[in-house]
Amino acid sequence: MNKLEIVNLTKTYKHKSANENISLTLNSGVYGLLGPNGAGKSTLMKQLATITTPSSGKILYNEKDIVSLDDEYRALVGYLPQDFDAYKNFKAREFLMYMAALKGMNNSEAKKKVDELLKLVGLYEVRNKNVSKFSGGMKRRVGIAQALLNNPKILILDEPTAGLDPQERTRFRNLLSNIGTETIVILSTHIISDIESVAKETIMIKDGKLLLKGTHREILEDMKGKVYTITTKNESEVNEIQRNYKVVSINRGVEDTQLRIISDKAPSYENTKLTEPRFEDVYMFYFELEDAREV
Ligand code: ADP
Ligand code: MG
Repeated sequence: MNKLEIVNLTKTYKHKSANENISLTLNSGVYGLLGPNGAGKSTLMKQLATITTPSSGKILYNEKDIVSLDDEYRALVGYLPQDFDAYKNFKAREFLMYMAALKGMNNSEAKKKVDELLKLVGLYEVRNKNVSKFSGGMKRRVGIAQALLNNPKILILDEPTAGLDPQERTRFRNLLSNIGTETIVILSTHIISDIESVAKETIMIKDGKLLLKGTHREILEDMKGKVYTITTKNESEVNEIQRNYKVVSINRGVEDTQLRIISDKAPSYENTKLTEPRFEDVYMFYFELEDAREV
């Protein structure tokens, strides 16, 4: 059994609730935690990683409160903080050996694991280079490697793809698929394409509250009947639609303009077609589109 239960979790900073009454059950597999900046993703993850304690509510691992499991729980957790920064004066391998020692691994066990992880994250060739010389993406990969040292049953990755270029993002997706299916993986992001292909379920939060949790199929099913494309030649109509609807995209062709919009009711424009929802429509429906697409 590998089960995390979050029960009525609330975290309040001064007067503001960063997490409000969140309840969720997670089993082995990859979960994408999606929400705009300030939604409460990091706060939730910090509580799961026992970096901070809930104001109220609790977290159970296999039916036991993680507070009472204490170090026994912590030994099962791997955590990449959002602001992870490896000690700059360390070489990659040296840093991981140091982290392994902190986690109580013996030297021969550590050597084997560290080399295995360096290969997994594609840093074996540069293992003896100073982390200070690494790109942002390489540093995050060092961070992912340190989170995997103890073969975690619960892997918490806070914005693991931040600062990664498209090639590194692809590598990260492949890496995730190589992490045991026996692990609960929770990764936060505000980029849809990061989780579209890897997450078995997506958890969306906004203003500290849980919006929804489900498989892509379920989430897209809920969006059916809300996505339309409108084709028009009339520029003032284009402006009007932009004012009145949530517009996911605009395609300006030579002949006419096509707008993809979200609406609960069918718009009354002449060339309106109901369209099959995509995941970015879901994000647009619940949040703004601004930073949802890969840049
Ligand atoms: P996200 O990771 O989704 O961007 P966070 O969990 O970091 O969101 O933050 C959620 C809210 O809680 C934000 O409004 C943030 O300003 C606030 N917050 C987070 N950490 C602290 C803190 N240590 N003290 C006060 N407010 C905080
Ligand atoms: Mg965050």
